[in-house]
Amino acid sequence: MDLLKGTKVTWLGHSTVLVSTPKGTNLLIDPFIQHNPKFPKDFSLPESLPYILLTHGHGDHISDAVPVAQKHDSSVLAIYELADYIGRRGVTKTIGCNIGGTVQLDDVAVTMVEAKHSAGAIDDDGTHYVGVAAGLVLTIANGPVLYHAGDTTVFSDMKLIAELYHPEVAMLPIGGHFTMGPYEAALAAKFLAPQLILPLHFGTFPPLTGTPEQLAARIEPEIKVVRISPGQSI
Ligand SMILES: [Zn+2]
Repeated sequence: MDLLKGTKVTWLGHSTVLVSTPKGTNLLIDPFIQHNPKFPKDFSLPESLPYILLTHGHGDHISDAVPVAQKHDSSVLAIYELADYIGRRGVTKTIGCNIGGTVQLDDVAVTMVEAKHSAGAIDDDGTHYVGVAAGLVLTIANGPVLYHAGDTTVFSDMKLIAELYHPEVAMLPIGGHFTMGPYEAALAAKFLAPQLILPLHFGTFPPLTGTPEQLAARIEPEIKVVRISPGQSI
């Protein structure tokens, strides 16, 4: 698709997304692999995976961050407290940042933005405070601007994300129950005004009932809703 200007966005089920830039930089967002029932079975991650980006500390977004980072010698970017948590679990290269900040990772400027969601990390020792939930805007050199909303409902300050960064592609949760569903995501689409929406966080588990069709039926036809299977790319 021309809009992506040579950038490849591969959906790996749930909120896990692999971004490959025109320059060849690979970034993996919210790795949920081993326990992700929708992760494509025959898919292997690229050998070169310099960056892993995390939106928040819930297991279905971070559970494979440590093993994947260790295997690929990746740097893990997350909100400050979550980066610290990941670092204490054996990842040597972490990048802690916070809402409103931008970090340049090779040819990608990553800006952390707000999300409306909770964000504890739960392990054998209980629930830990690991900062707040966030979204990520990826401004790719010679490529598009991508927005991965993480887990969130719609909020009116999505208008600020549109005004500041002009995302052409919005990756939005639509499953409901833990995040917004299609009804709320339709308003998010209006606020963000992207050209393309890649729906995330639906169909993985039975409560996540929202569908791309329900979203598409509620938004202006100028905004295209991508309907792909896990393992496929736009
Ligand atoms: Zn969550």
